[in-house]
Amino acid sequence: MENCLFCKIIQGEIPAKKIHEDEHCVAFFDINPKAKTHVLIVPKKHIPTLMDLERGDERLMGHLFLIANKIGKSENLEGYHLQMNVGEKGGQEIFHIHVHLLAN
Ligand code: AMP
Repeated sequence: MENCLFCKIIQGEIPAKKIHEDEHCVAFFDINPKAKTHVLIVPKKHIPTLMDLERGDERLMGHLFLIANKIGKSENLEGYHLQMNVGEKGGQEIFHIHVHLLAN
């Protein structure tokens, strides 16, 4: 998707500190962390918001949670928050779906 910041990070056009990448998603550190560890888990498929999810996206969304679990283990986190901001009124600023992983 043109002019999508996260699509540009996925395509390597904008740098990010990546912590995980596979065929379905990337995870990288948030540029403006709101916790000691703040990672964004982002599907490669451009879906603007949770409100745009369709049948067929179930596996992809489940995959994001498996990657959160993997990152929690690799970062030795004892616990963390997972957050999704949905829509402008839900505090979403980047309109490419992502899960925040936050740990202090
Ligand atoms: P949201 O408000 O849920 O859309 O969250 C967007 C997040 O993306 C914010 O926490 C920003 O700090 C983060 N962010 C914005 N630009 C970048 C970037 N270039 N690299 C990493 N994180 C970013």
